[in-house]
Amino acid sequence: MAAQFLSLSSSPTSDGIHVFWHEGMLKHDTGIGVFDSGIDPGFLEVLEKHPENPDRVRNMLSILKKGPLSPHISWHSGRPALISELLTFHTSGYINELVEADRNGGKMICAGTFLNSGSWEAALLAAGTTLSAMKHILDGHGKIAYALVRPPGHHAQPTQADGYCFLNNTGLAVQLALDSGCKKVAVIDIDVHYGNGTAEGFYQSDKVLAISLHMNHGSWGPSHPQSGSVDELGVGDGFGYNLNIPLPNGTGDRGYEIAMTELVVPAVQKFQPDMMVLVVGQDSSAFDPNGRQCLTMEGYREIGRKIRSLSDTHTGGRLLIVQEGGYHVTYSAYCLHATLEGVLNLPLPLLPDPIAYYPEDEAFATEVIGSIKRYHRDIVPFLKGA
Ligand SMILES: [Zn+2]
Repeated sequence: MAAQFLSLSSSPTSDGIHVFWHEGMLKHDTGIGVFDSGIDPGFLEVLEKHPENPDRVRNMLSILKKGPLSPHISWHSGRPALISELLTFHTSGYINELVEADRNGGKMICAGTFLNSGSWEAALLAAGTTLSAMKHILDGHGKIAYALVRPPGHHAQPTQADGYCFLNNTGLAVQLALDSGCKKVAVIDIDVHYGNGTAEGFYQSDKVLAISLHMNHGSWGPSHPQSGSVDELGVGDGFGYNLNIPLPNGTGDRGYEIAMTELVVPAVQKFQPDMMVLVVGQDSSAFDPNGRQCLTMEGYREIGRKIRSLSDTHTGGRLLIVQEGGYHVTYSAYCLHATLEGVLNLPLPLLPDPIAYYPEDEAFATEVIGSIKRYHRDIVPFLKGA
C-alpha cells in the first residue's frame, strides 16, 4: 500500500492522506436497545444496535482500504493516550471519574453514553490516535492526516462526558498543536451536532477559532447545557472566536455550500490560522438516523474541496481531519469517501452516490445564513466588514 501511495504521489508529504487507525477502538461495545437508550421495553421483537457501534467504523475502514481512494491513502497505527496527555484538555477530577467507572466494570455516564468493559481502552486509543495524527503533521511527515477514531469526542467537555463522547480527541490535538508552536488553529466542525465540548475547551481563547455548523437542536440536558446558538461567541479574549452556525433542518448540499462560502471562508481568511482541523460527522447526511440536514455525497465532496483550498492558502496545506458521528452504516462510509475525494481535489468523483437524488430547496437556509452573516458583522470584532 505504501509503495502504491508513493508511486502515485509526486510529493508524498502533500498529495495523499495519512490515515491513523487502531483495531482496539472496535472493542467499545455500546450495546443494544431502543435506538441509543440501552433499554429493552419488552415488546419489540428486534432491538437494534446503539447507533455508535463498531459496524459504522468497520465500513469506513474498509471503504478506505478497498475503495477507489485506496491508492491515495497511507496507513499508520494509532496508540493509547497517556493520562498526562488527557490533562492538557480535561480536569483530573473528570478523568478520575472515568478511570473509576472503568475499574468498576463500567456504567452509563450520561444519556446514551455507555462506558462498558473495553470502552475506556478504546477511548484512550481514540485520543492517542488523534494525537499521533496531529504529531505526524507537526513533525512534517505529512500534510493531511485523518484520525479514524471512535468513540467520538466533540461533545466531551473538560469536566463532562456527553453524547457518546468521553475524551475530546480534537481538543487534545488542538492543544498539542498550540503547545508545539502553532499560533492559531481553526477548527471547522461539520458533524450535525454542536461541537460543544471543543467550544467549551477553548471558549476563552483567541488562539482557536472554533466554527460549528450544526442542526438547530439546542441544549439537550445537563450533559449538554450549551445551546449552539449564534450568541454563544466565547468570553474574554475568546469573544468572537466561537462561531456557531445553527442551520435549519433540510439545509442540504447547496445550503452548506452557501454557509461555507458566506460564513466559514471569510472567518478563516480573517483569522489566518497556521493549522486547520476539519471535524467530520456524516450524521449531517440525508439518511442519518440522528440528523436532518440532508447532505449528499456531493455536498461532502464540495466541503472537502473548500477546506482543502483554505488549508492550502493559510496553513501551507496542513490539515488534520478527525472522525466524529455518522450513523448510517453504509452511507456514512460513502460520505466519508466523498469528503476525502474533495480534500484531495480529485477532478472527477470516484464513487457514484448509491442513494437516489434527494430534492432540496435552499431558500430558507439562504435566508438564515444571511441573517447569521449580518449578526457576525455587527457583533464580532474581527469580522467587522468581512
Ligand atoms: Zn453528531
